[in-house]
Amino acid sequence: MTKNIAVIKGDGIGPEIVDEAMKVLDKVAKKYNHTFNYTQVLMGGIAIDETGVPLPQETIDKCLASDSVLLGAVGGPKWDKGEGSMRPEAGLLGIRGALKLFANIRPAKLLKPLASACPLRSDITEKGLDLVIVRELIGGAYFGEKKTYIDENGHKTASDSMKYSDFEIERICKVAFDMAKKRRNKVTSIDKANVLDSSRLWREISHKVAESYPEVEFSDMLVDNAAMQLVRNPAQFDVIVTENLFGDILSDEASMITGSLGMLPSASLGEGTLGLYEPIHGSAPDIAGQNKANPIATILSAAMMLRYSFDMQKEADDIEAAVDKVLASGARTGDIMSEGMTLVSCTEMGDRIAAEI
Ligand code: NAD
Repeated sequence: MTKNIAVIKGDGIGPEIVDEAMKVLDKVAKKYNHTFNYTQVLMGGIAIDETGVPLPQETIDKCLASDSVLLGAVGGPKWDKGEGSMRPEAGLLGIRGALKLFANIRPAKLLKPLASACPLRSDITEKGLDLVIVRELIGGAYFGEKKTYIDENGHKTASDSMKYSDFEIERICKVAFDMAKKRRNKVTSIDKANVLDSSRLWREISHKVAESYPEVEFSDMLVDNAAMQLVRNPAQFDVIVTENLFGDILSDEASMITGSLGMLPSASLGEGTLGLYEPIHGSAPDIAGQNKANPIATILSAAMMLRYSFDMQKEADDIEAAVDKVLASGARTGDIMSEGMTLVSCTEMGDRIAAEI
């Protein structure tokens, strides 16, 4: 199979970790007789430096013309002072909107070799930690009307409106239920229906969608309770579905309880097969350019790309198994290092994983 992949290396450790993911993809291509063509495009701080904007139109066009997009990370202190629309992160929001990627999928799984990196007590984690957060990505407060103004009493005031329509809730809930059918058949919908109108609509529509999936166990949970339950008893969750802002916060919480930001991949999907695949962490400017970054989250993001955009299940399984093997052998980058393990660089980690394919 031939697939065209748009590659956004971005800033900070972005280029280092994406190079390792491409190394692993090339090994998969060789083993399974596929061709992956890469087109590098600019986004984030480097795009601001080279073109004056965080998301050039050329990047959007080339991503739309590809089968899928692989992204490292964007941002850094150099670009932190600009106004909102001129910051690297504006590129991220822009590309998600431009590609109509409404569903963000973030698995959070505690891998056995890394159990000691989990900050929760072992009696909590021994029940297992393997969940997926399905977060609505292009609605809610991040995309609603934003205003900063002087109110009638002379106070500087700002507001962000959290707005959802029925179709937006319906399509994201369907993604969650379809995913649950391939996992443990359980969906928890998280909202704040005791306070927010947008959450009451969320609850009404999610219950309607649930009627079409009688085989899937379904329940609601308020977001404050969910934040607590994630650290009290994470084993109760299979698929969590929630709106943009709640999902942003809960998915970082879920990722932290698995031990390291450097391990966790994500996928952003729309109606078709085009997706954007990226690690959940940022550009880690503190370790950029030092060959210290953990490339595993990006490598596992590439595996998700094979699984969800290219329907290459065996190839994706192969990458995930290679990561497990290398971790079981004791190889660790600095962020997941523990006593008795072998410290390896970013490139060495990539080499070892590629060698296991
Ligand atoms: P960060 O995720 O970049 O870093 C947090 C900490 O985790 C740092 O100590 C870093 O060294 C470490 N870390 C992160 N990824 C790692 C990896 N793969 N291997 C080893 N260690 C790793 O978050 P931050 O410091 O808050 O943000 C830095 C920049 O990244 C900011 O400009 C922020 O806006 C941007 N950011 C971008 C994205 C994205 O591109 N999707 C996401 C979050 C933050």
